[in-house]
Amino acid sequence: MPSRRAFPTPDHDHGQCAASALASAETLCAARGARLTAVRRKVLELVWQSHAPVGAYDLLARLNRGGGRVAPIAVYRALDFLMAQGLVHRIASLNAYIGCAHAGHDHAAQFLICKGCGSAAELESPALRRALAKAVAGRGFTIDHEIVEISGLCPHCKDT
Ligand SMILES: [Zn+2]
Ligand SMILES: [Zn+2]
Ligand SMILES: [Zn+2]
Repeated sequence: MPSRRAFPTPDHDHGQCAASALASAETLCAARGARLTAVRRKVLELVWQSHAPVGAYDLLARLNRGGGRVAPIAVYRALDFLMAQGLVHRIASLNAYIGCAHAGHDHAAQFLICKGCGSAAELESPALRRALAKAVAGRGFTIDHEIVEISGLCPHCKDT
């Protein structure tokens, strides 16, 4: 279950997470005929540097480390593309972005955000999504975009 391993241990092989996310992004984009350009791919790679959401300006700084001259607008455009493809989610409460580990299938973004280590994990609970949809329908409201952000402590930070 994705929910059980939502928060990988601090010593997990993160290179594996990033590599598989990038590989599935390439497969998805190819299947959809969407162009994962060099900048878009690089931004996705930088977003996947960790499980902590990262802000656009931090991405820009990482991108231009070593003398690059990528403009902020290019980073925002790349992020828009990645979000449209469902490869990245925006965490509004942090004004930051995180890679989606469930790209390729429709899901409501529900995030558990750790105040200790800064990492965020998707809850991906269909039951919560259904409950929300039901509660919202009762108000005669139509959902356009839905994202649930819950802050707290992850299992690794709670135990230390
Ligand atoms: Zn990882
Ligand atoms: Zn997701
Ligand atoms: Zn934590």
